[in-house]
Amino acid sequence: MSSPAASAQPLKTVAHKFGGTSVADATRYRHVADLLLARDEDEQVTVVSAMKGVTDALIDLAGRAAGNLADWRERWHELRARHRGAAVALLGEDSGATVEWLDGQFDTLAEVLQALSVIGELPREVLERVQGLGEVYSARLLGDHLRSRGQDCAVLDAREVLVVDRGELGVDVDWETSAQRLAQWRASHPARRVVVTGFVARDRANRITTLGRNGSDYSGAIFAALFNAAELHIWTDVDGVLSADPRVVPEAVQLESLSYDEACELAYFGAKVVHPQTMSPAIERGLPIIIRNTFQPEHPGTRITARKDAAGPVKGLTLSPDLAVVNLEGTGLIGVPGTAERVFSALRAERVSVVMISQGSSEHSICCVVKAIDAARARTALLTAFAHELAIGQIQRVQLTDGVSVLAAVGDGMAGLPGVAARLFESLGRARVNILAIAQGSSERNISVAIASSDATKALRAAHAGFWLSPQTFAVGVIGPGHVGGALLDQLRAAQPQLLGKANVDLRLRAIASSHRMLLAERSIEDDWRGVFAQAREPLDLDRFTEHLLASHLPHTVIVDCSASPAVADRYAGWLAAGIHVVTPNKQAGSGSLQRFEAIAEAAAASGARFRYEATVGAGLPVITTLRDLVDTGDAVTSIEGIFSGTLAWLFNRFDGSVSFSELVRQARAMGYTEPDPRDDLSGTDVGRKLVILAREAGRALSLEDVRIESLVPQALRQASVEDFMARLDEVDADFAQRLAAAKAAGKVLRYVARLDQDGASVGLVELPADHAFANLRQTDNVVQFTTRRYCDNPLIVQGPGAGPEVTAAGVFADVLRVAAGQGARL
Ligand code: ADP
Ligand code: ASP
Ligand code: MG
Repeated sequence: MSSPAASAQPLKTVAHKFGGTSVADATRYRHVADLLLARDEDEQVTVVSAMKGVTDALIDLAGRAAGNLADWRERWHELRARHRGAAVALLGEDSGATVEWLDGQFDTLAEVLQALSVIGELPREVLERVQGLGEVYSARLLGDHLRSRGQDCAVLDAREVLVVDRGELGVDVDWETSAQRLAQWRASHPARRVVVTGFVARDRANRITTLGRNGSDYSGAIFAALFNAAELHIWTDVDGVLSADPRVVPEAVQLESLSYDEACELAYFGAKVVHPQTMSPAIERGLPIIIRNTFQPEHPGTRITARKDAAGPVKGLTLSPDLAVVNLEGTGLIGVPGTAERVFSALRAERVSVVMISQGSSEHSICCVVKAIDAARARTALLTAFAHELAIGQIQRVQLTDGVSVLAAVGDGMAGLPGVAARLFESLGRARVNILAIAQGSSERNISVAIASSDATKALRAAHAGFWLSPQTFAVGVIGPGHVGGALLDQLRAAQPQLLGKANVDLRLRAIASSHRMLLAERSIEDDWRGVFAQAREPLDLDRFTEHLLASHLPHTVIVDCSASPAVADRYAGWLAAGIHVVTPNKQAGSGSLQRFEAIAEAAAASGARFRYEATVGAGLPVITTLRDLVDTGDAVTSIEGIFSGTLAWLFNRFDGSVSFSELVRQARAMGYTEPDPRDDLSGTDVGRKLVILAREAGRALSLEDVRIESLVPQALRQASVEDFMARLDEVDADFAQRLAAAKAAGKVLRYVARLDQDGASVGLVELPADHAFANLRQTDNVVQFTTRRYCDNPLIVQGPGAGPEVTAAGVFADVLRVAAGQGARL
């Protein structure tokens, strides 16, 4: 080892801080020692926290003793046993002296607790003394372990050197005294490695105190400064500072670097990973802080320095819970100077600290966010301070709103960049999070919004996705896993990796329902949905289904109705009103009662949730989208015509006289081109429904009763069973042969066409010239022709395969993705 005098290079001192998460038990202490020994710093200063959970346990013990709860002794025994156990496991044969020392410490603690139980209260000073003991034990354990491994190591009890002042803005260090005391201590303890207790200190009156919960990070920075270290490494249980609390946003990403300012804001607004005061000693000295993972030491972690980088604009998001809003409101506030000052001095006098303030430029109200525990006091303070104005009616009220959290978006890159606030509000708006108050610091490094705590998780996730920090996440529920629904579920699963990777969209399938049963999944139904759903036993309950989807706190929810049920369609308006997007190939809503259809449109307009049903016409073909684009861009539709039934298209494409009509129906049925009961296709009702849907999209208040429908099923066969119907189908052949012959004689073909124009809406069999666009379709192709003001001479035509579960499901899927894009997904 190089001695200071002999070394040509300046001494390289590095400080480390290990949090409670890094020293949970003997194995972890050994791991920490391995880490430290693997580094070849000339001087190594290691600040440690108490073992995980010990500070909480000590606070609890003190409370129990003071409250005279009989079980405090039991807990004391447990805590001693945990420390003794760690010492023995860590030091083995060498543990004797350490265990003896621990026993002495715990005996003293027992005496203090006993005294508390006699006086029956817990003076603040005593609590301060007791809660910091975990660090004292912990430093000794690590120090003794390093020594038992032959290391030159001294243990420094910070209470011997660190002197602080507890001010209103936090804890201030008396640098001069602390440095003097440290120099004295160092003179008699010149070891290369020093293990220091985190968290604890003394005040100027020489009383034992602490730096506040989570304060060991601050201790790390203070001792890094006192020892003149080149770097401070804060070791914890995550890879560094993440873009949000990983317990709330599992997709949070690790940040490579942060400026001191950004780290301060994140910490101040609740990022637990580092204590907010940690940065101040570092800023003055330009000391880099590296937050890194004990469990992943090879990971470079997050580097906090003075450097501001271009990444962003928003680096991270935080939540501060347990707050309240106090609002002072009155016409008498307008233009009156000094009101804000009076508010603050009233709060200050009550020692209420204000987390956030916001005042509208109308000056009609001033709103402060305060800690929930201070809220009642804050309100009383304002009522008293403004008693006169309240009495004479200049101020109308002082209002208190409980259960508030503050969400803050932080990043140096926000300064001077327009649109950041807009993006935040947009994300929250889309997730239907109501904002109670807004504040932006003039540094433009932080935008904070106060929201209801019940929205907090959802809001954080929505904002995180809004800034592209994590995927736009949707809770998805699918009703009707039949042909189309099943194909959709398969397509969803197959597209998942690509959607996540490229488009940053996470569609989480959280529920599937059939007409009788449902499956509600806690996270998402990933692989074999068929197998999992086959096991589902829960009876269908659409209320539960809905609640379950909403309970996930995901920013967005979409229900895909692949049933043909009118009862499900009755739910749409309610879902949309609750902010749930609805996507469906079910024609019930689009073509059913006008009243229901209008209620759906109103609910969607009011909440901003989307109702999409592209697949109800032409399966996956972009029919409704095309029509909407025409209407939205101000075009006027004069007529809509087309062949909307794949089955009828196929039948009349084939019907040239060589094979009888009934035989063609049989073939079509055998190939699965018809419904199980072909009359559902032949009756024309389905085509009629599609025409109603298009008519409504074109702005006509049309219903199915308004459509003249020619059924191809003769009256005599309408009531028969399916078997009877198929058996007697040749009864229609003569009639169809005759119509075909007549058409042919005129050089025409027969087609089943839907038509909407000034004269009304009709669906039926017509004769068309052989060169007509509708006369030359392939297989089961659909065609829709829009004649509009713009497309008048040469109509706009959408044509292609218009039936089959795969293409229909793809149409539904495309609607789901359009909804996602509308919510900000990059598609
Ligand atoms: P230590 O005991 O090491 O001081 P803490 O539990 O005090 O550890 O802090 C680390 C924890 O902080 C992480 O496990 C993580 O759950 C939480 N945390 C909250 N917000 C963030 C964030 N933005 N980045 C990283 N961790 C965070
Ligand atoms: N042990 C103390 C606490 O739990 C200090 C710290 O770990 O940072 O608050
Ligand atoms: Mg901590």
